[in-house]
Amino acid sequence: MYDIIIVGAGPAGANLARLIGDKYKILLIDKRDLENESSKHRINKCCGGLLAPDAQKMIAKLGLGIPKDVLVDPQLFAVRTIDITNNLERLYQRFYYNMDREKFDRWMVSLIPNGVDKKFNSYFKSFVEISGGYEVRYINNGQEVTAKTRIIVGADGASSKVRKIISKDVNVPEKYIAIQEWFKCSYPMPYFTAVFDEEISDFYSWLIPKDNYLLLGSALRPRDDTREKFNMLKRKLTQLGFKFTTLQV
Ligand SMILES: Cc1cc2nc3c(=O)[nH]c(=O)nc-3n(C[C@H](O)[C@H](O)[C@H](O)COP(=O)(O)OP(=O)(O)OC[C@H]3O[C@@H](n4cnc5c(N)ncnc54)[C@H](O)[C@@H]3O)c2cc1C
Repeated sequence: MYDIIIVGAGPAGANLARLIGDKYKILLIDKRDLENESSKHRINKCCGGLLAPDAQKMIAKLGLGIPKDVLVDPQLFAVRTIDITNNLERLYQRFYYNMDREKFDRWMVSLIPNGVDKKFNSYFKSFVEISGGYEVRYINNGQEVTAKTRIIVGADGASSKVRKIISKDVNVPEKYIAIQEWFKCSYPMPYFTAVFDEEISDFYSWLIPKDNYLLLGSALRPRDDTREKFNMLKRKLTQLGFKFTTLQV
């Protein structure tokens, strides 16, 4: 029997496994393959990959430093905000680590002690209470597997399945759909751009330079015309002078 099964090896789960992996018998499960970069079952996280000042403070408190191959060009010292609704624009100072999010997660996993059992490409399904703990069910290589544990930690992200099983009444975050698209970027963009437009979203949209690419993303209300809203965003930004050169695949 495990002491703890951690579901999810994102920053929360991987960091917990790193901190307590030498003290307890731990199983860490994730549906992504965070050790094998050429995995056929690659699932990339939809993320801007910017490490904000609060997260930088936490990295410092943990006594960690980020390897340079996790970072991408350029490092960002400025935020450009464009409020399309009110026709306002400004630039202000704020430092973000600009990172490759996938590499960041892989680096966090690489810090986990060897004693932790890691099961990647493994999809957590459910758990039931048993005497002295829980029996966890997950799918590994198409096979259903069970494992027993005294404690389960749900570190499986914003739409946590662990949380849903524990209680249907727990407050869940309001749902948005995030769409991100990558473009070629051949001109310098030394800032993170945040775009506000009430016609598109009551949240916001973002433009982030990543090496020779440009990441355009938006958090949108899940509706029938969600994709059209994203296209409208591209049209409006094109009118403001942004260039979106489609990647050849
Ligand atoms: C569009 C978007 C952009 C974002 N941009 C930024 C940004 O630029 N900077 C920033 O700091 N934050 C950003 N965030 C937020 C950031 O992604 C989260 O705060 C962070 O990932 C939370 O870490 P976590 O470990 O709690 O969860 P996650 O990173 O979500 O990790 C959860 C893990 O659980 C695994 N998992 C989930 N369900 C199962 C299952 N059933 N079985 C097995 N494994 C499972 C997943 O594969 C994943 O590895 C963004 C979020 C979104 C949606």
